[in-house]
Amino acid sequence: MTEPASALAEVYDNIAKAAKIARREPSQIELVAISKTHPAEAIAPLIEAGQRVFGENRVQEAQAKWPALQEAHEGLSLHLVGQLQSNKAEDAVRLFDCIHSLDRPSLVSALAKAFDKAGRQVPCFVQVDIGEEAQKGGCPIADVPALLAEARAAGIPVMGLMCVPPFGVEPSPYFALLAKMAADNGLDKLSMGMSGDYETAVMLGATHVRVGSALFGARG
Ligand SMILES: *Cc1c(COP(=O)(O)O)cnc(C)c1O
Repeated sequence: MTEPASALAEVYDNIAKAAKIARREPSQIELVAISKTHPAEAIAPLIEAGQRVFGENRVQEAQAKWPALQEAHEGLSLHLVGQLQSNKAEDAVRLFDCIHSLDRPSLVSALAKAFDKAGRQVPCFVQVDIGEEAQKGGCPIADVPALLAEARAAGIPVMGLMCVPPFGVEPSPYFALLAKMAADNGLDKLSMGMSGDYETAVMLGATHVRVGSALFGARG
């Protein structure tokens, strides 16, 4: 196996092991390979190894990289995991198949408009500021029910909740809180877990893990 292929196999294996401990089906967990900062040449080997779901955190970077890859390979799914500016909503809706960073009322209206213009709807996660770190983006915990109500009223397909816990502390309590908030709000998808903590996230109910450096190596 090539190096990227073996890294991919190892991550899937770790997901399967964590799922087994939690009595979950590994097929319920989607691995989103986060390719931000990595060029198309680094992404292609993962596609060749069978990976189909990828994530980027910047609209412009994704616009430069992905159309050619999508042209060359069938069945790719591209997720946006970074903060989205309202004036980029239409570009995002045209390029991405899922948005993990819906975090404010102004973006609800921008996305609703963008869906209209682009003639397509894209499933979204509401990003929660789970560690109360405003600079990371995410909706304040107390405002989540109201934001969900606004999104639903605007016809946005909200699948679940997403979070990025504070760096360098035990993530489990944050994952557990996100899972509880999702259940309380009738949502069954959870986007949580990155290279350092995706197994923990899987054990606590993640349906989408966002893994970058464990697949691609450290970012330059
Ligand atoms: C970069 C990024 C990831 C992946 O992080 P790694 O630690 O490289 O796995 C996941 N989620 C978001 C929102 C990111 O920006």
